[in-house]
Formats: sequence, structure tokens, C-alpha cells
Amino acid sequence: MKTYDIIYKKRNGKELNEDEINYFIQGYTYGHIPDYQAAALIMSIFFRGMSKTETTNLTLAMAKSGEMIDLGRIKGKKVDKHSTGGVGDKTTLIVGPMVAALGVPVAKMSGPGLGHTGGTLDKLKSIPGMKVEMTREEFIESVNQTGIALAGQTGNLAPADKKIYVLRDVIAAVESMPLIASSIMSKKLAAGADAIVLDVKTGSGALIGSLEEAIELAQTMVAIGEELGRQTVAVITSMEQPLGMAIGNSLEVIEAIETLAGRGPKDLEEICLILGAHMLVLAGKTDRLSEAIDLLRETISSGTALEKFRQMVKNQGGLEAVVDDIALLNNAKELFEVCADEAGFIERIDAKEIGLAAMMLGAGREKKEDVIDYQAGILLRKKIGDYASAREVLAVLFSNHPKKINELTVNKVLSAFKFCDSKPPKIPLVKAVVTKEGIQHI
Ligand code: URA
Repeated sequence: MKTYDIIYKKRNGKELNEDEINYFIQGYTYGHIPDYQAAALIMSIFFRGMSKTETTNLTLAMAKSGEMIDLGRIKGKKVDKHSTGGVGDKTTLIVGPMVAALGVPVAKMSGPGLGHTGGTLDKLKSIPGMKVEMTREEFIESVNQTGIALAGQTGNLAPADKKIYVLRDVIAAVESMPLIASSIMSKKLAAGADAIVLDVKTGSGALIGSLEEAIELAQTMVAIGEELGRQTVAVITSMEQPLGMAIGNSLEVIEAIETLAGRGPKDLEEICLILGAHMLVLAGKTDRLSEAIDLLRETISSGTALEKFRQMVKNQGGLEAVVDDIALLNNAKELFEVCADEAGFIERIDAKEIGLAAMMLGAGREKKEDVIDYQAGILLRKKIGDYASAREVLAVLFSNHPKKINELTVNKVLSAFKFCDSKPPKIPLVKAVVTKEGIQHI
């Protein structure tokens, strides 16, 4: 088999067979296929697309390119959750403890953040002392003892995806349906969960802009999961503005704690209840979503979800006291209030721009080697539909580096806000749910 022939075939719009896909994935993972040939094939896939069978074969080949984790020693059905990425998305920190508080094991491994504002691991690392690197033994034992562990990927999980993702990023081939679907699902398969809940973001701040494309991506991932023996449900949610009010690592942990204590922003709480409810149904805790939502609400009102968060922090070496005193999490040296220069209703808050501004303040990495300022970020004071008078505070910027709060960052945040004269209609948070049975529009 020759790499040239595989590229030629895909370039001409033909379907690749399983052997050709396996040959490419193994060859590229082990360094036998050079970047320029891989780039040519990836770009051909970007333009020509892939059939369902090809996408499933690509997913499986990438999952098998490294270690396939066996979570069999963890008692109970393990349901994983994955988001396609959004600004202010701290749902794992909330959904995980809520679900675990109801006795469903949460064994979640996260990769490094791909987006502007750091991933779940960076958010966790903003808790003093918190350890996210664990051996496989420690990880399994933590889940069996505490019911939950949120950790970095142990071992060599889907290395083909890591290499291909970096390549896609530099050749402008990220936004491809089969490539996104196989990238996400290969990691989920390798991470060993029995069932998967996907949060597919749509809207201006998401990788996938339109609802139609988000549904197509969801259907592709659900079909792959089910084909490969994992029950999979995808919830399509809006990313027309950042989720919740906080963007930036420790600010997001504070908001997660507040939400677990019943004082969180409503949009964030709603998404967490819905994602958590699907996890409970897949885990067999109940077969009704409404009952699952009631159970989850109880974990907040009774304090068991917050208690589970505390246990997790303690078990992973973090400073438990942050749960009672959130001020321990953030004392950034510089704060700056960004004020409205006109009055009106907020019509839009461009999530991508807010994410980029948070990264410029130090909350995310521009380059791989950048050091994150865990306290940097943005606290929104207004969301879509709110009224702001001229000079009212729209957002507060946090940083430990005075120079990072400058004209550029302030203007970026200001320009993310669009105003209108009358109250805009409410944007539904959950747009649709995709299962193997079909699409349910909400
Ligand atoms: N998240 C992933 O893990 N992979 C993609 O390709 C896009 C988002």
C-alpha cells in the first residue's frame, strides 16, 4: 500500500476502505508518514468529506492508536460527558459532583484545553494543591472510594488524534464534520466509558455555527458511539454568549461552587441539570428525565453535590477550605471595570471575542509553552436581554499582570457587546436532543 495512492483516492472523492484508513493512522502515529502527506490527506478529507463507514473506521483506528482504558474495576455503569468546547463552560465541575452524589460513578479524564480559556484541567489546577495527574491505579481507586475523579489523561490515549489535531490546527482544517466527530469519539472510546453524553455547542462562539450542522455532527457522533457499542446521546446547546458569568480558571471554579450551592447563574444551572439528567438516565438511575432533574435539584438543595465536590478536592490534594471561602481562589492584583458607552438592551455578547480577551489577560495559552495566570479572566455583569445604562459596568477584568489590562483587552470586551433598543427575544439554551431514535427539537 502507498500513501500516495490513498491521498489520490480521497482527493478524487472516492471512499477509503478500512485497511487504507488503518495504514494511514498507524503510519502517521509512528512517524512513517511525513506531515506533508498527512496534511494533503487531511485537506482532501476536509473538502471531500467521509461516508459514515469511513468516519467510524477512522474513529476506531484513532482510538486503537494508543491505549484503550479498561474501567471494568470501577463498580457501576460509567457515563462520560464531553463538550465540543465553549467559552465559560465549567459544566464538568458541576455535573460531575451532582451525578456522583447520586451514586453514579464519574471517572472523567480530560485532555489539555484546545480553546482560548483553558480546559477543565486548568480550572481544577487553579485550586491550590489540586492534583490532576494520577496513575491508573490512583484514578480507579479514587472513583471507587469517592465516587468521582477528574484527572488528566493517563497513559497514551488516542495519540493519532493528538498529532492530527495539531496538524489540522496549523493547516486550517479544524471545522470538518468527520474530523471533529472522529477526534472526539476516538478519545471517548479509548477512555473506556460505557455510555456518553455529548454537549454539542452551536452559535457564534462554537466551532459549529449553524443548528443544522450541529445536528449533523451530533448524528454522526451518536451513530459512531452506538455502532461501537456505547449508548450515546447528544444535547445541542446554544453558545450565542458565554455560559454563566465567569470566564477564566479560578473565576469559573468559584462559579461552579456557587452553582453547587444553589446560587449559580440560571443558564449554567439549567444546562448542568439537563446534561446530568441524561447521564443519570443512561446510567439506569431512572428512565425519566423529569425525575432525573428532580434528583439532581435535590443534590443542590440538600448540599450533597457540594459535599461531593469537597470530597473530590480533598481526595485530589486540593485545599478543601476553598469550598467555604471562595475568596481563597482569587485575589488578582488588578481589576478593571469595563463600562457601557451607550445605553440599551444587550443583544449579543460575542463569546469568541470574550474568550480571546480572557486569553489575552492570561487565562489561556496563546502558545503551548505560555504559563496560565489562574486568577485572570472576566466576570460578566450583563447578559443578553439585560438593560445597561450608559457608563454602567458590563464586565470586570481580572489579571495579575497590570500591562495585560490595556486598551486592546478593554476594547475587545467592549466590542463583544452589541446593543439594541428593545428587549431581544430569549434564546433557548437547549435546541435539540439527538439519540439513536432520532432528533427531538426543543
Ligand atoms: N474537540 C476535539 O476534541 N476535537 C475536535 O476536532 C474539535 C473539538
